[in-house]
Parts: sequence; C-alpha cells; structure tokens
Amino acid sequence: MIQYICFGRPTFIVSATFFFFILSLFNTSRFCLNLISLLFAFVFPAAKVFGSGVVQPAALDVLLTTNVTEAVGFHEVLPSYLLLQGLFLVIVFVLVLVFNKKLSVRLFDNRLTLRYPLIALSLICVSVYGYKAFAPRIIEMIEAYSFILEEEKPKETDFKIISKVHKYDNYVVIIGESMRADFMSAYGFPLETTPSISKMNKHLISRFISPAPNTTLSVPRFLSLSVDGKLQDHNNAVNLAKLAGFDTYWISSQGFSGESCSPAGRVARYADHKTFVPIQNDFVLLPTIEKTLQDSHNKVVFIHIVGSHENPCSKLYGYPNNYKYNTGKVMNCYLATYNKTDEFVEKVVNMLKTNSKSYSLVYFADHGLNFVESSGEYKIFRDPEIKQSYNVPFFVVASDIRENREYDVTRSAFNMIDFYASWFGVKTNLTKDDYDIFNEESDSDPKIVYYDFTLTPYNEKKDGVKASDVYNKMTSN
Ligand SMILES: [Zn+2]
Repeated sequence: MIQYICFGRPTFIVSATFFFFILSLFNTSRFCLNLISLLFAFVFPAAKVFGSGVVQPAALDVLLTTNVTEAVGFHEVLPSYLLLQGLFLVIVFVLVLVFNKKLSVRLFDNRLTLRYPLIALSLICVSVYGYKAFAPRIIEMIEAYSFILEEEKPKETDFKIISKVHKYDNYVVIIGESMRADFMSAYGFPLETTPSISKMNKHLISRFISPAPNTTLSVPRFLSLSVDGKLQDHNNAVNLAKLAGFDTYWISSQGFSGESCSPAGRVARYADHKTFVPIQNDFVLLPTIEKTLQDSHNKVVFIHIVGSHENPCSKLYGYPNNYKYNTGKVMNCYLATYNKTDEFVEKVVNMLKTNSKSYSLVYFADHGLNFVESSGEYKIFRDPEIKQSYNVPFFVVASDIRENREYDVTRSAFNMIDFYASWFGVKTNLTKDDYDIFNEESDSDPKIVYYDFTLTPYNEKKDGVKASDVYNKMTSN
C-alpha cells in the first residue's frame, strides 16, 4: 500500500501536489514553493516529451537554448494531451495557492497532532520518490553541465599527428539540426524538400545513424573520439584540424547555449575563431561564412545551424512556407525548414565553388525526430525508442567529386573521428589510418547512447511514423 502510494506512477503528481500543499502551509517557504510548483507545471509537457522521466537534461537544454517567446512557441509542437496534463498541474497549483490559507485554518488549527504526522508521511513519500525518480537525472545533468562551473581552460588534446598530406584547401562541416533523411527529396521523399541537394554531385550514405537522440549528447559525439562509448571531447575534430595545420572557425546560430554552456560549445572552445549569432536564423550566418571562406589560409569551418529544431515555424524568419497539407502546421513548417536548409547548403557550396581553392564539405544532422499523430495532425514527440530519432542524412561534396553517388550502406556516427582524420589527410595515434566512410561494408550493429550514457543497439529500436506514412496521409484526400 505504502509502496503504491509512494511509487505508483500516476501518484507522483498527487504526492507532489500534496507535498507542496503541506509545505505551503508554512508562511516562509510558501512563495518559493508556489513558484517552483508553477514552473514545474509549465515545464512538465516539454520534459515529458524528452523521455520517460519528468526531468531530463534535454528539458534543461530547452530552458538554456530558448528565450520566453521560444519556449511558448515550442509548446505548439507538442501533442495536445501533454499540454492538457500541464494545464491540469497549473490549475491544481493555482487552487492550492488560493485555498491553502483557508484550508489550513479549518483542518489543522485545533489538530496539531494530526498535522505533524501528515507532514512527516508526505516528506518521506516524496523524498523517497523524488530520490528514485530524480537522482539519476540530476546526477546526469550535473555531469553534463558541470563544465559551466569548472574547467576554465579547455583540456589539452591527446592527438599526435604521425603524418599529414592535405587533400583540400577549404573544408566545411555543416552540422544540421533535427533533420531526418527520409523527409529529404535527396533521399527519395516525393515532395521537393531538398531540390538543390538532390542535384549536387556528392557521395551520400543511405542509412546514417546518429549517436544520440538529442543535440547535447549527439553533437559532441559527432565531433569527438569515443572509446567504448565514453566521450573524450578534448580529442575532437576541431583540435585535429588545428594539429593538421588548418585555421579553425566555429560559426553558430544555436544561440547562447551554443556559445558558453553546451556540450557543442565545449568543442567550439578549441576553434581559433568563433562567431555565435544571437538570432536563430541560419541565413544570418551567410555573410560571415562568405567572408571567412575568402581568407587565403587553409581552413576548416564548422557551421552549427538551427535547421529544423522545434519549433520549426519559428525557425523560418519569413522564409516562404509552400506546404499547406492536411497534416498540420507543425509538419508544414518542418518541411519548409528543409527547403531553407537546402538553400543554405547550396549557398555555402556556391561560395566554395566561386573560390579558386579546392574544397570539400560534409553535411549531416545531429539527430532525427519522432512524430506522433495528435488530433489529426502530426506533432513532435521526441522518443529515444524510435528508429526515426536517429536516421539522419550524411553526404560529402568536393571539388573533385563529379558524380552523384549513393552508397547503400549503414554507417554509425561513432566512426566520425576516423572520417575527419582521413578527410583532413592525417594519420594520428588515436584514429584508424585511411578510414573510408564510404566503404561497401555496413556497420552491422550501430550503437546509440541514451540519456544515462549507456550504449544500446540501434537495431533494437522500433519504427515510428515514417515519411511515407506522412506522404500517404497528405495525398489521401
Ligand atoms: Zn539537435
């Protein structure tokens, strides 16, 4: 019974409400508690979306990466039942706020003996539940974000260059955001979502598996060495490029968190030159990229774009949205961000072409996204158990690639550091020599990392809504 009261899943909300109610009887703590309660209620739908727990580092991501307008807009993409649950919590807490004074007088004034055991019971239940539910998450969040407090200076890299033969003068790495391969016309989606990329001469990998379901976990793993799943983010592509003799640039539209307190920012710290624009509009980066590419030194430019991040409607900044399908506003905006990213990539490729120098550009997205149907529309519901959270595009364009070729292989992003080494033309003490990411043998068992940093096989995940399901619905009436 006690077990159920304390640990039953739906009872968490009840016990938390009760806990806050009891504590709110005390004048001194009332204000803070009410504030926390309200914040908890507001954050609930977003936090729920990022996994099975109530608090996830990804929820902190949302808090850190977004401003107030963004946070409000963000809720548009969520399934409505989650919003209702959040609204329910807000209402409960407002009621507690309004009525607790009256209730406390009526119930407890002459029954102090009852009041203290009740407080004790509620404290025990909630603290045990709280420990069970939140402790792993809190530890993980502290670990993921601990560098905000510590590590003034970036840790020195362990890479040692054994040999180097430069293949190209200019390198560009575009790190896309929340883009799935299957919604790109370059990957066969029937709508022209990425017409420019489709036409480009490139080498493209059919099934590229991102290392994680969110930006915080994925971007550093796309850029750094991982040993047995353990991230060594001081051994990353930026300092590899520096050691290979390139000037390094980091150009980002991922805003505040991208600059000073995100795992991507941790890698960015190693770059010689850093530009973070405060507005999450990728096109604002173009003049900086153009100027950077005109510099005569050999260089590697890392571009971290905001792409198709939630809320996709707020990432368009006036960019035309030609999609008016019955699959809902979120899906239409999401596809329009593909058009925008397509044009962005095309513009960067054209800048490289107009330069007389040899070049190569790689594009990939940090992770996919999962969609669910909610009231006849598609909404975004991040789910690490779904394959589509990991199926991302990957292709390379270069001054010496003159055909449009698809490599029908499965590739894990955990090989990326070996890719950078061979791409930059270096051999090191920590990377495979002459690694060919386009080799014909698939990675049979790609792994992904979950919020608790454990590795799990991608092959065990299940299929969610496919792009073909969405297209069928679009064209069904
Ligand atoms: Zn992301």
